[in-house]
Amino acid sequence: KRILVTGGTGFIGKVLCPELLNRGYELTVLSRQKPDDVRAACGRVETTQDLNQVRSHPGFDAVINLAGEGIADKRWSDKRKQELRDSRIGTTETLVDVIRSWEAPPQVMVSGSAVGFYGNQADAEVTEQTEPHDEFTHQLCRDWENAALALEQDNVRVCLSRTGVVAGPGGGFLARMVTPFKLGLGGRLGDGRQYMPWVHRDDVVGALIWMLEQEEASGPYNVVSPNPVTNAEFTQCLGKVVRRPTLFPAPAPVLKIALGEMAGLLLTGQKATPARLTTQGYHFEFPELQAALENSVR
Ligand code: NDP
Repeated sequence: KRILVTGGTGFIGKVLCPELLNRGYELTVLSRQKPDDVRAACGRVETTQDLNQVRSHPGFDAVINLAGEGIADKRWSDKRKQELRDSRIGTTETLVDVIRSWEAPPQVMVSGSAVGFYGNQADAEVTEQTEPHDEFTHQLCRDWENAALALEQDNVRVCLSRTGVVAGPGGGFLARMVTPFKLGLGGRLGDGRQYMPWVHRDDVVGALIWMLEQEEASGPYNVVSPNPVTNAEFTQCLGKVVRRPTLFPAPAPVLKIALGEMAGLLLTGQKATPARLTTQGYHFEFPELQAALENSVR
């Protein structure tokens, strides 16, 4: 079966693509990068730099859509917010338009979203049924999801991955945290009571492939571990894994000055659980934080 992948070179994609190739899928990866660089990240894939090159195509069996500018890479100026939106919603709208030009629609599109969909939920348990709070991350994820859901009109099965905070070796948010923690300079963020809906990257990849292959799956899925922890618990666990004390909290006002509105990503959170994945039979490889962190910061 043939799959068109966007965001295939990213932190998640560079593990997802080789796993899909292993399973016998043929991949075409949309990327702004040179074909050789894409293959270095993803394996033996075809590449395209412009979605219009796959317009009027006979069609792909499935589409996995993960492209987007890094949410925590730069302060959220108005210009940056627009880039975050265009790289997700704009790409998805073009993708849907291109898909509609194919001879046959794909059976399924698995598309990205994030737990930021729910906004700041303090310590309430968050399932896919939870009413979201209207903040920037909610608007971004809602519009990104709706752009993908448009394909339901074309009888395409659409699955949405409301991904949590992804931990894994060689990148992601942990790569930025580990150095201070290893130097003994780590500590909780703010009062540490905010929830971190963490998930190991292998389970993100596992859940995306589960959505792809499970013909009854559709709609939004919280892709988070079954054991969300507070930032204080996370801090303690990471300190234990790197065998260092965690005595240096980052005070909320300092983070707000340094990061502006984006500090909300660190100081607020969601006690999200994978309610639909669990009920529908997805089995987690890394349900426990300590094993996930030991695997990630080896
Ligand atoms: P990365 O930031 O590692 O990779 C993002 C991908 O998006 C890259 O492959 C890049 O492709 C593509 N991209 C970036 N900017 C643009 C742009 N302006 N136009 C088109 N494509 C662009 O992301 P992750 O692998 O970590 O995550 C994948 C998706 O899941 C992202 O959309 C992210 O928001 C979401 N997510 C991730 C979480 C995490 O903790 N990692 C948490 C929640 C959601 P290329 O350079 O090849 O063109």
